[in-house]
Amino acid sequence: MTEISITAEAYICEPCTRKQGTPVTELVRMMKSPAILNGALVGDEHWGCPICLQPKFPVRKNGRKPPEPRRRTRPRLAVSNG
Ligand SMILES: [Zn+2]
Repeated sequence: MTEISITAEAYICEPCTRKQGTPVTELVRMMKSPAILNGALVGDEHWGCPICLQPKFPVRKNGRKPPEPRRRTRPRLAVSNG
């Protein structure tokens, strides 16, 4: 068996966390200087803090997956009432 050690840290926006007094861990996808080109929105996409609106991570289109908010998947309950 191969041991792989991965260190994962929860993302926190420090300035907003200090300001709010509660950990700010959200990221929203935003665009820096968006422009409309032939009817399509183009621009540098970033993951950024929804509170201070600071871009934190660039959105990579061909690279690694961006940090997506966890999706809660619940198994659907099959209910049969009679
Ligand atoms: Zn922030």
